[in-house]
Amino acid sequence: MDPYRYICDNYKLLEQRIQGACDRACRDRSEVQLIAVSKMNPAEAVIAANDYGLNVFGENKVQELCDKIDAVDRKLHWHLIGHLQTNKVKYVIGKVDMIQSVDSLHLAEAIDKESAKAGVITPILLEINIADEGSKFGIKPDEAESFAREISEFKNVKICGLMTVAPYTLNPESNRLYFRRMKELSVDITSKNIDNISMNVLSMGMTGDFEVAIEEGATHIRVGTGLFGARNYIN
Ligand SMILES: *Cc1c(COP(=O)(O)O)cnc(C)c1O
Repeated sequence: MDPYRYICDNYKLLEQRIQGACDRACRDRSEVQLIAVSKMNPAEAVIAANDYGLNVFGENKVQELCDKIDAVDRKLHWHLIGHLQTNKVKYVIGKVDMIQSVDSLHLAEAIDKESAKAGVITPILLEINIADEGSKFGIKPDEAESFAREISEFKNVKICGLMTVAPYTLNPESNRLYFRRMKELSVDITSKNIDNISMNVLSMGMTGDFEVAIEEGATHIRVGTGLFGARNYIN
């Protein structure tokens, strides 16, 4: 018996819903990258998910990410999606394909410095606090452009786009406006033709609202619960 069979079942269902959202938005399925958010799930669940065809994973904590990369021991793609402290940057450089949660100049500077040391260019996203929630990390939308300009000067980081964690809601439609604003912000920054940055990535949408996010232009959706089941926050 395969104890992780449910991941396969969830994945099939999820794929149908992603395809449905793509169809409604007249987008090709290949325009949307599914990131399997494996936080709080064991390495074995990641291995099973990879056997079912998933190969891009998201983690929000540095320690857990590094431990899991070692335990899984497969050539996979990893994205850091959670808040990153500058003193921990050195542990993730060269291990992750992308740091999605860059929310300060100070952090971008640290990523640049460690990337230079390692001889790599690290792809990053700017995390935007699109609904201006006090509880959330991320920069204000109206500061994003100047932020992008400053970071564009760094030689060892590459801005690839924007990321947001929309408000928690039971009604995904209520986030449509925020996703739309994210897309507008991305288009607006693109139009400024800033050197050394691209706005190809728009990472938004989670289990509760990924379909709306896809309809509004998400290129990357980050799904945890919808694949791996409810997380157990007790331990
Ligand atoms: C946990 C997490 C997700 C996934 O959340 P689900 O609701 O379980 O799909 C996505 N993005 C970030 C930044 C997260 O921390």
